[in-house]
Amino acid sequence: MARVYNFSAGPSVLPESVLKRAAAEMMDYEGSGQSVMEMSHRSKIYETIIQGAEALLREVMNIPDNYKVLFLQGGASTQFAMIPLNLMNGSGKADFVITGQWATKAFQEAGRYGEAKAVASSKDKTFSYIPKLDKATFTPDADYFHICLNNTIYGTKFNELPDTGNVPLVADISSCILSEPLDVTKFGMLYAGAQKNLAPAGVTIVIVREDLIGNAKDFTPTMLNYKTHADNDSMYNTPPCYPIYIAKLVLEWIKSEFGTIEKLGEYNKKKAAILYDFLDNSKLFKGTVVKEDRSLMNVPFVTGNEELDAKFVKEATAAGFVNLKGHRSVGGMRASIYNAMPIEGVEKLVAFMADFEAKNA
Ligand SMILES: *Cc1c(COP(=O)(O)O)cnc(C)c1O
Repeated sequence: MARVYNFSAGPSVLPESVLKRAAAEMMDYEGSGQSVMEMSHRSKIYETIIQGAEALLREVMNIPDNYKVLFLQGGASTQFAMIPLNLMNGSGKADFVITGQWATKAFQEAGRYGEAKAVASSKDKTFSYIPKLDKATFTPDADYFHICLNNTIYGTKFNELPDTGNVPLVADISSCILSEPLDVTKFGMLYAGAQKNLAPAGVTIVIVREDLIGNAKDFTPTMLNYKTHADNDSMYNTPPCYPIYIAKLVLEWIKSEFGTIEKLGEYNKKKAAILYDFLDNSKLFKGTVVKEDRSLMNVPFVTGNEELDAKFVKEATAAGFVNLKGHRSVGGMRASIYNAMPIEGVEKLVAFMADFEAKNA
């Protein structure tokens, strides 16, 4: 079977050249006579892989030296607990903007360890916009301020960061890591499950400013303490070796294909605009998010008729455009167009949608 255009929200499409290279290196990685899956994580050869992945991530994302990069397990969801365990160490308070399910989970989990406050929410309109923030509602002595930068399920993104002053800004960037330039210095900490835009599931990237490490709550399990992993270069225990290797290949692909994150960001803007322009002019399909808060990565849309939505998803799947069914809380469709989705994939999807519209409107 030919490869499909995969619009899955995660795990999601990976660059074809990366998959081919991983396949070619499967039995014998660089003359070692082993697969990366089989080698000791303490070996010299694996060391070059994990160090190479970190160096590339630092280079592409322009991560300053006073930030640690950690390769952890447990998904972004484990960070919902690790963040309060490690950071809620002063006033025991933290602020949250409730922009969807992941933001809500981070907020609820933090509430188990301290005083979590929701400063704004867009739940009233099914999270179809980013709420306007009023600084007067922020907790001045909060230990951190949490946002979900790109809301995977609802298709919204913060285009303007909250001004939190000296309170460290913490962001879940699971579905937008490496999608466009991001000023790391604006954040105390960033984290991302890799399976949306970077690698297969299994590795979680944590980028944390050094001064935020080392003050975890007493009862923090050793494995959930950032210091444990920072002090051991993510090698306290066995790291997720293979996903880290694929992450390295993906970063190499970004460099060879786009050169810089600026160029990749331009590509992603162009790609998303093709779909949004179509939605804005369609008589059948419409986007569910207010224009100014639209995500570059996740594009939810509906026809307004559930039967027609189901028919579209079914016919699209048969035509090779897969995983377009929307999240159950929004309904309709969602096209996730991560870095590895080529522009041709979006052009062909739009052509298919136009054809469906002509036949069904
Ligand atoms: C997918 C996702 C998560 C959950 O990630 P896991 O790795 O499955 O724990 C959290 N936040 C965002 C924004 C996501 O897209």
